[in-house]
Formats: sequence, structure tokens, C-alpha cells
Amino acid sequence: MEIKNYDFKGKKAIVRVDFNVPLQDGKITDDTRIRGALPTLKLILEKGGALIIMSHMGKPKGKVKAELSLSQIVDAVSAALGVPVKFAKDCANADAEVAALKPGEALLLENLRFYPEEEGKPVGIEKEDPAYDAAKKEMKAKQKDFAKKLASYADCYVMDAFGTAHRKHASTAVIADYFGADDKMLGLLMEKEVAAVDAVLNNIQRPFVAIMGGSKVSSKIGIIENLLGKVDRLILCGGMTYTFAAAHGGKVGKSICETDKFDVALGVEELAKKNGVELVMAPDAICAEDFNNDAPQKVFPANAIPDSWEGLDAGPEAQKKFAAAIKGAKTILWNGPAGVFEFDNFCSGSRAIGNAVAEATAEGAFSLIGGGDSVACVNKFGLADKVSYISTGGGALLEAIEGKVLPGVAAIKGE
Ligand code: AMP
Repeated sequence: MEIKNYDFKGKKAIVRVDFNVPLQDGKITDDTRIRGALPTLKLILEKGGALIIMSHMGKPKGKVKAELSLSQIVDAVSAALGVPVKFAKDCANADAEVAALKPGEALLLENLRFYPEEEGKPVGIEKEDPAYDAAKKEMKAKQKDFAKKLASYADCYVMDAFGTAHRKHASTAVIADYFGADDKMLGLLMEKEVAAVDAVLNNIQRPFVAIMGGSKVSSKIGIIENLLGKVDRLILCGGMTYTFAAAHGGKVGKSICETDKFDVALGVEELAKKNGVELVMAPDAICAEDFNNDAPQKVFPANAIPDSWEGLDAGPEAQKKFAAAIKGAKTILWNGPAGVFEFDNFCSGSRAIGNAVAEATAEGAFSLIGGGDSVACVNKFGLADKVSYISTGGGALLEAIEGKVLPGVAAIKGE
């Protein structure tokens, strides 16, 4: 079912959102995720439905933890939604609160992960334990009961938590089994995220340029390999620069370098060559002797960094090269910064990429920014409204781009 075609009038909708917002002293420090879910929540209320909102917060690992209680965000959600939101302090025993819910009203359930059934992983037993498999099987059965209980509250199910769509949890996937095809659907945020991934994976306008940065090649290798089958140019930047340079015998000083991943780096180069993908890497680096914002800087070739120095940002030649590689692109994916962008004095490489992406977008490219740190970059440089789409999902986005089917999507679409 498509949410825009569903008749919510007089119905109770249970909606999985991602309200895993950062808190400091009980106050929300970034409400992006709450804002992200509003279009879906408001649509359901406007169409005469009642909302049962469910989410996780943090990693309580199946235990009740006051500091991870969603009661802390009730006021903020009420203000954002424009209706007073009620609260059920036990998500698996909320029948009375649900029964009292009227059209146009909203109820927030307590943190789903206070129950280990949500994640479906046995607690207090290690994978190595011989009894683990049996415990896992038992927990999976309990997970079904938990999902069934949540499903019993509502007439329909809406999945709008892209940030956890890569997890097969009770509330993100298993619950969908208890609704017919006509009574389960993706929310508006999920629809947008899925369309954005589709634009860079299946509906590619060329040239397609991907920019992969961040700290390590090992954590991005799956996505890099997948992209090598799709892109025309791949910019590899950030900390992985030095693993590639060292793999060819370069000197990288104290730079971040995965010495056990040289074969992975060389394999990436070989695959790029085989697929006719242009790999773009930094010829130079802005270096420092200390890992701090105020450390004096010097530029060295990325493969000739003296022993006491480390590369913390893309150098001036690299910045020009990256900008030139991005210019003229029609599809752009950016994941991961080009340097330690958190330090204002070492963010010029990431800024150069951000500006080039914004310019290409102004000239008609579709640009998708994904993964926590590149989103932080775009926000830091004030470019959020100059790119096409900023994904709310970190792990989920990366898995989708790796070509994996997300359980949260499959549960609705039956793929
Ligand atoms: P990731 O989580 O793998 O996307 O990595 C993001 C992190 O990589 C950010 O916190 C950056 O500060 C860090 N990073 C990027 N370039 C470097 C570098 N040259 N040296 C150390 N850390 C880096």
C-alpha cells in the first residue's frame, strides 16, 4: 500500500520512527530525526487517524534505563506535532492507553529496546557458548510474540525509521507479518530515502561521481566495491589516502594507515582499472605533527610525509583535483569527509568537496549526501540546502548502497 492512498479515518496507525535523538542532561541537542518523521505523523493525523508512535533510543540492551527513556522527549514531540502526545511507559503493556486513543490523538510508546525481544538477540550469553543457538531460537520466538503484541494495538503499520531499516527487529520488520498487504506501508521519509538510493543505484544519470572519505578503507570496502560497478569516477579521500600511498611503498609518517589492508587497496585499484573507473586520489596532504586544531601545518606529497608528521586533510593540489573531478557530474554520492573536518583548521579539503558538490547540484546534478559525518560537514559549511538530498540513515544508507535489501523495506514490499 502507498501511504498517500491509505484511508486513515477512524484507524489506529502504529508508526515506527527513529526518535533516537542525542540528549544532554535530558535535553535534545539535535532534533533532525523528530523533524524527519513529522510529515508522516502529521499526514496520518490530518487524515483522521490516531497515532501510536514507537521508537528505540540508544542501546539499553534489553534493560530499563531511565536515561534512555523516551518520556524525556514527549514535550518536544508534542510541540513539533502540535498535539499533546500521551505516553505509555511499558511498550508491551499499553492496551489501556491504546484503547483510550481517539482519532487525531497521539501516543508514544516507551523505548522498544527496553525489551530484548525488540532486537531479538539473546542477552547474557556469548556467541561462543554451546547453549547460544538454543537461546537465540527461543529469543526469535519471543520476538514474534512481542511483534504480534505491538501489531495488536493498531489497524495498520507504517515503517518510517530509515535509520534502523537495515535491522530485522520486531518493530522494523517482524511486525509487518501481522498486517495484510493493504494495511502496511512505508512512511514519507522512507519513501524519499528509498527514492534517493534508487537515483544513485538504478536510475543513474552520467557521469556518476562518488566521493568516499572517512578514516578507514576497511569499513568502506563493501560499498567501494559495489560502487566500482556503477560509477564513472571515484574519489577516495580522508584517512584511506595513506593506506593506498603506503601500499605502493610511499612514506606516510604518522598518518592513519591500515598496514594489513594493502592487498585490499591494490585490489580496489585493479577492479577500478578492469571496470574503466577513474580513481581520483590526493597527490598532497595538509599535515601536522600533533593531532590538534592549532598544530602548525605543512603540505607534503601524500606519499612522502616525514616520520613525525601526519596527513590530516587533503592538500591544495588534491582539492583542485577533487573539484575538477566533481565538476560536470550528473549524479553524486558523498560519504565521508576528506580530512579531520571537526578541526576548523583541517576542514578545507572537505569544504572544497562540499562547494564543488553544491556547484554541480546548481548545474543540474542529483547529489546524495549520506553517512553521519558527511551530513555534519554539509551542515558545518552551510550547504544543506544546496545539495539534492541528505540521508538520515548512516548504516542503513551504506547497506542500501552496497546493494543489500533492507529488511525494513522488504517487510513492506515483500522483496
Ligand atoms: P568514517 O566514520 O569512517 O566515515 O570516518 C570519519 C572520521 O574520519 C572523521 O571523524 C574524520 O575526522 C576522520 N578522518 C578523516 N580524515 C582523516 C585523517 N586524515 N586522519 C585521521 N582521521 C581522519
